[in-house]
Amino acid sequence: MEKKIRTLLGEKHEKDLLRKLTPVFPLGFGKIRAGLHEYINLSSNDYLGLSSHPELLKCIKENPCSVTSASASRLMTGSTYLHHELEDKIAEFKGKEAAIVFNSGYQANVGLISALCDKNDCIFADKLVHASMIDGARLSGAKLVRYRHNDIGHLELLLSKERKNCKNALVVTETVFSMDGDIGRIEKIALLKKKFDFVFMVDEAHATGVFGETGAGVAEEKGLSDKIDIIMGTFSKAMAGYGAYVATSKEYKDFFINSCRSFIYSTALPPVIMLVNLTALDLVKKEHYRRKSLLRNASYLREKLSDMGFEVRGESQIVPVITGENAKALAFGERLKKKGYWVLPVRPPTVPEGEARLRISVTFDHNRKVLDNFLEAIAEVRGPR
Ligand SMILES: *Cc1c(COP(=O)(O)O)cnc(C)c1O
Repeated sequence: MEKKIRTLLGEKHEKDLLRKLTPVFPLGFGKIRAGLHEYINLSSNDYLGLSSHPELLKCIKENPCSVTSASASRLMTGSTYLHHELEDKIAEFKGKEAAIVFNSGYQANVGLISALCDKNDCIFADKLVHASMIDGARLSGAKLVRYRHNDIGHLELLLSKERKNCKNALVVTETVFSMDGDIGRIEKIALLKKKFDFVFMVDEAHATGVFGETGAGVAEEKGLSDKIDIIMGTFSKAMAGYGAYVATSKEYKDFFINSCRSFIYSTALPPVIMLVNLTALDLVKKEHYRRKSLLRNASYLREKLSDMGFEVRGESQIVPVITGENAKALAFGERLKKKGYWVLPVRPPTVPEGEARLRISVTFDHNRKVLDNFLEAIAEVRGPR
């Protein structure tokens, strides 16, 4: 085993792929401290800036819960009133019959996909879906069929080839892609449902709070909640809490409660986390100016970077700048760090080989002034051309 570990670490180092942990001190308001230095944090998923919102901090300080822990799984004695209240509110928010809270997005995806599918089934997944969905698919034993990113023509072709060979079929995509920042073509996928008979599931981890009239996500924005069987999302990103939700029908909910091993065999989240999630949900609905300003500022940044000649992707608060080589992404990130900006490079296997990038994630606290300064810093570190 030692030899295997040493070889793997050596190889990762060689290819500029070694991952390391850096201790940081989050300051809120779009900033972070590491060591003695303070940085503008352009790598967090605190999209609406809610993690430093006074009302959320207050709800923790004034926490009325008489216990710190749920102390058991949901099916034992961990299913507190707050969990149920959150589930009711999420179902309404997402326009679905029912909702179920999971301990994390990772656990939700792994648990529900592996519960739904087995070796007689097929899972059709966008090439860029999150690792948690791939892990769920692997665990299920179903045949995993990947279609080219957002290429619904390719999905249709694969469905016509493979659908007849599998008992049940599941199609999964993200609505805002985490590393490319673009929007899943869910209206086109929904149109294929009749012809091919599949269960349609979307992951709104990066869309929750940011898209849609009330902040419910892209399914709300496109008026497609009815057409999607399973809508999952997280409380850990724009909602500044923790855990995940799955909004679906009552029947699916009952099925998940009885079959998702990641739900059954794990202690429920602490009640105070439910309190944070509930408060955040109110703020998301109430403070819509946060998402409007965020999306405006992100498209401003995207346009400016593109004008500067960078290869920029996406159409959301996630603004990836493609560098190609791993070493280039690392060096670019390092130079920006010296200027006071925390923008982490993302390398394979998180993104495809040869597509290393800086993943800039804009949050509510990064206003025009902050972004203009950032653009100046970028111009400086890249030097005259
Ligand atoms: C972050 C993320 C998850 C996992 O959610 P956690 O609550 O952090 O475990 C799942 N899917 C996507 C697309 C994500 O970006």
